[in-house]
Amino acid sequence: MDIDRLISDRARAIDASGIRKIFDAASRLADPINLSIGQPDFPVPEQVKAGAVRAIDADRNGYTPTQGVPELLERIVAWLKLDLGWEAAPASAAAGADASVLVTTGTSGALSLALLAMLSPGDELVIPDPYFVAYPHLARMCGATPVLCDTAPDMRLTAARVEPLLTDRTKAVLFNSPSNPCGVVSTKEECSDLLELCRARGVLLITDEIYDEFTYADSQTDAAMGDASIARCPSPARLEGASEDVLLIRGFGKTYACTGWRLGYAAGPAALLAQMAKLQQYTFVCAPAPLQVAAAECFDVDMGAHVREYQRRRDLVVERLSAVTDVPAPGGAFYAFPRVPERLGISATEFVDRCMDRNVLVIPGGVFSARDERVRVSYATSLSQLEKGLDILVELMGG
Ligand code: PMP
Repeated sequence: MDIDRLISDRARAIDASGIRKIFDAASRLADPINLSIGQPDFPVPEQVKAGAVRAIDADRNGYTPTQGVPELLERIVAWLKLDLGWEAAPASAAAGADASVLVTTGTSGALSLALLAMLSPGDELVIPDPYFVAYPHLARMCGATPVLCDTAPDMRLTAARVEPLLTDRTKAVLFNSPSNPCGVVSTKEECSDLLELCRARGVLLITDEIYDEFTYADSQTDAAMGDASIARCPSPARLEGASEDVLLIRGFGKTYACTGWRLGYAAGPAALLAQMAKLQQYTFVCAPAPLQVAAAECFDVDMGAHVREYQRRRDLVVERLSAVTDVPAPGGAFYAFPRVPERLGISATEFVDRCMDRNVLVIPGGVFSARDERVRVSYATSLSQLEKGLDILVELMGG
């Protein structure tokens, strides 16, 4: 049978060759210095692992309500109130029809459902360039057009840059801070300007905060925490009334190193969440049951030591690379996005080939951007590997 004839235009439209080349190279190189990794290099906290084992032993292995298991929903709702001051529907209501919180199959699940619920063919979704690799593809899978907002050279998604791109077909602006691939953290003012713009134009602001816990001290903002005030990631979701018109998407995978557990959540306007829940019911059905139960434990685990360790690595990366090239200030996540120096006269892809010849893996900017000028350097690896990799990058950049 000619299977090729049967493949949809939707699937054909996705070109995954850039990233595949890196994965193939990673498997070919004997013992690469791998600075291409998109997940933490520490293990899942013991308490969370034990929660998963207990849940499996307690036969929590069947379907769950599509919104999520009550014990996790309760913790999420309580956290959103403490962290953002959101009066989300109480957990009992969250399991009902007017849900304003939905546990999803990874952050990717939440993003897919949000876009499926909002975008019709011909609609437009504004995304930052550079972007997380899935963003433009998810928009196209819905038949919509991803509209790239060029954020070079500082890689900041600002209202001034977004405003000229809004049309009467724009449904949403997809915002991501701390960002992948740059690690850039937006300021409180940038968040509030963007939300003000979106409100004025009747467009939804979707905030992908999968890296929110990895926001370093120098990029945090004061946030009310119940009666206390502690520093947290700046977010449009912190602004007055945001639960009514911001879709918040967060995940467990990066913060607790359980990317393979496929757990995230969405919270925001109940009318949108209800549509997303309906779509989840007929696609993913529910997030993995015992792992949802275990994720409730995450809220009792302090990841501060890991975050501070990553901040030290960030400092090292910035110190070494900014001596030889332009690096947009990374305030969070575990990435930096340095420019391949123009004086080399080569594309990022060609630079990545040179890195591979030296056994170093980084990802070319063309995978995340219309421009192939930079490389994504991940520091989610041991300090010794990172130091070796940085020596080679600095040398190749002509330092
Ligand atoms: N958003 C961003 C910005 C990401 O970097 C990633 C993962 N690399 C995701 C979403 C998807 O995360 P998950 O594994 O939870 O689906």
